[in-house]
Amino acid sequence: MSEEILEEKETETETEEGPHWIHDVVEDTNYVTGFKVLPSCKCSECGYHANRPKVVCPVCGAKMHL
Ligand SMILES: [Zn+2]
Repeated sequence: MSEEILEEKETETETEEGPHWIHDVVEDTNYVTGFKVLPSCKCSECGYHANRPKVVCPVCGAKMHL
C-alpha cells in the first residue's frame, strides 16, 4: 500500500495587470456608488478611446481582459 502524499499547492493569486479597458464614469447621485459606469472606455496601454470595449485594441493591438 503506497502512501498518499498530499501536496498543498499554494494558491497563487494572479496579480498580473495586463492591458484592459478603463471605463468612463460620470457622477450620478442616483447610483449608490455615486457614479455611473459608461460603456465607453479607454485603452490602458495607449489611451485609445473606444465607444465600447473590444477584444483587441485597434491601435496598439493589446489583447484585452474583458
Ligand atoms: Zn491600445
